[in-house]
Amino acid sequence: MSYSNSIIFGPVPSRRFGISLGIDLSPSKKQCNFDCLYCELEKAKTVDKMTTYPSVDEVIEAVKDSFSKHPKIDVITITANGEPTLYPDLDELVKRLNKIKQNSKTLILSNGSTIYKKEVFDALLSIDIVKLSLDCVSQKCFKKLDRIHSGIDIEKIVESMIVFRQQTKNEFVLEILFVKDINDKDEEINLLYEAVKKINPHRVDIGTIDRPPAYEVKPVSFELLEKVANTFKGINVNIAFKNRPKQTNTYSEDEIKALLKRRPLTNEDIENMFDEKSKTLLKNMVKSDEISLVNSGGLNFYKIC
Ligand code: SF4
Repeated sequence: MSYSNSIIFGPVPSRRFGISLGIDLSPSKKQCNFDCLYCELEKAKTVDKMTTYPSVDEVIEAVKDSFSKHPKIDVITITANGEPTLYPDLDELVKRLNKIKQNSKTLILSNGSTIYKKEVFDALLSIDIVKLSLDCVSQKCFKKLDRIHSGIDIEKIVESMIVFRQQTKNEFVLEILFVKDINDKDEEINLLYEAVKKINPHRVDIGTIDRPPAYEVKPVSFELLEKVANTFKGINVNIAFKNRPKQTNTYSEDEIKALLKRRPLTNEDIENMFDEKSKTLLKNMVKSDEISLVNSGGLNFYKIC
């Protein structure tokens, strides 16, 4: 079968993971069990399984072909025009990718909704980096924002994420996308924080809309994301925000410790918050082991030792 779009995209350089080779498991059309307000794809009726998809053989052949042309691939990214875990042969695909991946890592970008299905859960355990979404914890918000297929239960998703984190030996990253007037209320943020604490992922990426969305919804401000990051005490939070405002200050040792006690900071945070003098101070504190630089979920965080 031939597809209007290719199964493979890239390789492209990605800031976080190096050279990424993308796999699209739904190249012909959007097939998703969500219809998120913020989706960058067109609006579409939700489905609970894929009906049109490439075979495992076709995907593996396409990946092998790319590897022969581009030997330096750091990460094989499993995605879809929609939700990749709706691919019926995910487990077999992951097993075969693991056999041919050489030194690269596998990464999946999923909306997280199928993690309570045993076959998906098991397949995810064999992927090197698993990045799942969690936009809301109340079922009401979940339905409104992610416009889910009937029968998807947020409580079961959160429970499975907790178990997944306990069982996985690989990296687990959670992603939360905030939309103005939908999941940016204190009540929802607090519910998210409670869930994130229990899930305990290696890293949480928080962001907002930065490309034209399927529906008329608006992004939240950088300040809101910063507020969320500060609410998520002790969690490795990475703020993803295009053109974030730069506001540098001078911090003393005690102030740096107080900042890091509240939350670990990324290099990007440091660049946006610290002046040169404070950066030097921070480096010295790392040298004297007062502060450590820890890689968590593929990103470095400055933390109190
Ligand atoms: S889960 Fe992803 S692909 Fe599906 S509707 Fe939401 S944003 Fe779009």
